[in-house]
Amino acid sequence: MAGASFLFDPVDLPALKSWLSAQDNTQGALRPVDIGEIVIGPAALLDLPGVLRRAGIEPGMHVQLIIDETPMWRDDVELKPFVRELLYVAGYSASALHLEDDDYGMVHADFDSVESAVWGLEQGHLGTPARASIGLGSGTVTDIAKHAACMYNQKHPDRPRMVYICVPTANSVTAYAANMAVLLKDGVKRTVPSCYPDAIVCDLRVLADAPEEMTLAGLGDCCARFVAYGDWYLASALGLVDYYSEVPLALLDNLDTILLEHAASIEERSHAGEAVVMRALLLAGIAQSIVNMSAPISGTEHVTSHVLDMIAQHYERGLALHGAQVGVATITAAELYQHFLDRFDPAAITIDTCYPADEPQQRYIRHIFRAIDPTGAMAKECWNDYSKKLALWRKQRPRFEHFCANWHETFRPKLASLVRKPQVVQRILAEAGAPLTSEALEPPISQKEYDFAVRNGHFIRQRFVLGDLLYFLGWEL
Ligand SMILES: [Zn+2]
Repeated sequence: MAGASFLFDPVDLPALKSWLSAQDNTQGALRPVDIGEIVIGPAALLDLPGVLRRAGIEPGMHVQLIIDETPMWRDDVELKPFVRELLYVAGYSASALHLEDDDYGMVHADFDSVESAVWGLEQGHLGTPARASIGLGSGTVTDIAKHAACMYNQKHPDRPRMVYICVPTANSVTAYAANMAVLLKDGVKRTVPSCYPDAIVCDLRVLADAPEEMTLAGLGDCCARFVAYGDWYLASALGLVDYYSEVPLALLDNLDTILLEHAASIEERSHAGEAVVMRALLLAGIAQSIVNMSAPISGTEHVTSHVLDMIAQHYERGLALHGAQVGVATITAAELYQHFLDRFDPAAITIDTCYPADEPQQRYIRHIFRAIDPTGAMAKECWNDYSKKLALWRKQRPRFEHFCANWHETFRPKLASLVRKPQVVQRILAEAGAPLTSEALEPPISQKEYDFAVRNGHFIRQRFVLGDLLYFLGWEL
């Protein structure tokens, strides 16, 4: 491939693993990448039987497909029957576990779905328990299938280990190579520790046949790196997080140049374009997994997107694709960074005014969230997390004073090196044909609701982001 490239091709796992094990890990926070194999190519799916054998699953053994009801294609062939036929011809006994849609035609990645998938794996087919499960789907199917295999193995240490193979059917999320799962708990999205897949099989024909907005959503989700790394560094510089590492950053080095170079081919849905988005998504998944937290690719832009989901749920509307929202919110977050880097002047602030007291702050949060949850439960949940952040912010005041005193020499240049300008993010998304404004999302989101999410996203969780600092400084968001 000409032009810029990633430090590692995720297909070359041995190189990536040996590089990772050579990194400084004095704090013991870096985790290994326990993925056996990644295959990417226009005919990768044909290698599925080979992938199973290399993972120790011999012909004759029982394999369970985990699928939803969405029709999918590979060129002009229906994908799901194609995969079953492929396994049958290779000598595997395969059955399918269908995840059920709700009234809106959606499968939810929640704990109930995971439990029923675990039950399905336990039952197997005609009394033969499955030895491997194949998650054939996009984000929701992947989260359920991954976590079900993980739970099965925890629950049955006495049985042969369930091998889990991930076959992504859309370039839409970073979940495929991640060892965590995003599951709904009482309607709230929670990231829970899970397990890596044994192998990931990325067939470019399948990915190119997925709806265009899914690939563009995947692209949007990767763009989070351009601002989220600034948030993580900022939190670390201000003493609001214990651990910070640039090892994950190295995996996503050159991401802006690579995406700019390939934006047109992503827009064309070429195999080369799909391959670039998949490599970026896999590396982003690995980047968060090695530090066991989503911080490298989740900051301001993600909390904005989460609030947009909360608003949509309140009005019982369909949700826009996660990555599409994240892409739009990344442009906004990059603008906020630009503004902050250009205008922040420590000499012009009064540090004493940057520390709100608990009681009025709690009242304010209650007031804000009443608009989307009159019961007050959401505000209570937010305050639980936010009050801890506020207490730590107060405690770490000397760190903020140090930050201000060294802003021009140390912190500003470092922060500027980690984030990307809004024009860069905008160009990547525009050239690939992705939505650039909340009104261009599907379904569209009004400017008023979008502004609400940008202004209040930092109130919903404990992780410190730029929005927190701007709020403490009294800046308008
Ligand atoms: Zn995301």
